[in-house]
Amino acid sequence: MGKQRRRITSSASVDKQIYDLKQLLEISKSLNSSLDFSTLIDALLYTCMGQMKTLGVAIFTRKSFDASCFQMNQNYYGFELSNDFEYSIPEDHSFVKLLSKQNTCFSIDEIKKSSIEIDTPINELISLNPSLVVPLKARTHINGILLLGEQITSEEYSIYDKEHILNIAALASIAINNAALLEMSTTDMMTHLKLKHYFYAVLSEKLEISDDQNSPLSVLMLDIDFFKRFNDTYGHACGDFVLQMVASIIQQNTRTQDMAARYGGEEFVVLLSETELATAKKIAERIRSSIENLDILYDEQHLSLTISIGVAEYNSEVDTSPKKLVERADKALYASKQAGRNRVTVAN
Ligand code: GH3
Ligand code: MG
Ligand code: MG
Repeated sequence: MGKQRRRITSSASVDKQIYDLKQLLEISKSLNSSLDFSTLIDALLYTCMGQMKTLGVAIFTRKSFDASCFQMNQNYYGFELSNDFEYSIPEDHSFVKLLSKQNTCFSIDEIKKSSIEIDTPINELISLNPSLVVPLKARTHINGILLLGEQITSEEYSIYDKEHILNIAALASIAINNAALLEMSTTDMMTHLKLKHYFYAVLSEKLEISDDQNSPLSVLMLDIDFFKRFNDTYGHACGDFVLQMVASIIQQNTRTQDMAARYGGEEFVVLLSETELATAKKIAERIRSSIENLDILYDEQHLSLTISIGVAEYNSEVDTSPKKLVERADKALYASKQAGRNRVTVAN
């Protein structure tokens, strides 16, 4: 009694605030339910359109954890993009610095009036005419920049609306940070392929699915032929460059549901989901011939190389562990080497 009631400073009713808090909890759960980047981005985009009542939404994120710029994600709604624009903002841009210093959203007018340099990246952002630009911040670290599109109602965003979207953005930022940390701890920095330990973790999971659903799964083991000569002839940096080229060919030949990993120095392994032996062999052959036809230009020298591959399809009767399956693919790889290299051998 006598105590002054706390004034509700926001324009929203208590009911609305409780409702929005519950929404935030649900959003947090949904954003934290996946560490898969594209699933995460899609969940976020839908959430933002629904919560902020807009006809469009887009997001700039780092393409990988070590990228030095924010790139507009290929999933977006309600914006018209120009083919002539890059939609890329360097992470050391004055706008990103401004976002990391302040905890606020920006309208286009506010961006124009701010102290930042209005250069090509910012002009490209302005050309999208977003109704609001929202930083995805975890502490002072920017993990993305969200653009809200045209609003369904013509009302201006209230302070309450801006606080609400900043809260959603903060949750999204943590989720993106977690996804980036997972990527960082499971990816080989040089080739950008997955690391061996992560390959085995995923292989174990996929083998269980294979057992449950009686679906096929195959594994390729690959080893560059006479790789040592690149190091010996042109130096270690050349060897590294060749490794990156080979890794990118392997990556280009694997689908999103597959996984390519660096198994060791110049050895790779590929997990092919839902793939039986005949198809796996075709994929292996495609990788082998792409590498054989590769013309690598290094230090004004044309380099060529070949790769040997072993293929094995999962057989629950003999492959009693993930290691056993990989061992069979490795034996087939060894047979390819013995038979003269630059070939694909299928495990029996
Ligand atoms: P083979 O056809 O029998 O596979 O011959 P190879 O020369 O490819 O195989 P070997 O195992 O004799 O040599 C592999 C070499 O790969 C030895 C090692 O120094 C080199 N290597 C391993 N990791 C890296 C790396 O990250 N960068 C570079 N540049 N070289 C590496
Ligand atoms: Mg080798
Ligand atoms: Mg080797």
